[in-house]
Amino acid sequence: MRRAVACGTCGNEVLCEKFSPAHTQIQWTDEAAEVCPRIRAGVAAGEPSARVRSCEALRGSIDAAVASGLLEVGGPS
Ligand SMILES: [Zn+2]
Repeated sequence: MRRAVACGTCGNEVLCEKFSPAHTQIQWTDEAAEVCPRIRAGVAAGEPSARVRSCEALRGSIDAAVASGLLEVGGPS
């Protein structure tokens, strides 16, 4: 089940699907380096955007969504 989760820091919204506790698929609705200031900063510092793709604040928001039951951890639907 895919859910929209917004980053608590930059407000960027992504679509998340949690396949297992360790496997989260994040689909950016826009260019990650453009919508997330954190990733943009990493890219500006010379890091490849694929490496900075996980914004810590966003990950925290995703964890919170899982904890509140908004984002269900599910197997194949
Ligand atoms: Zn962010």
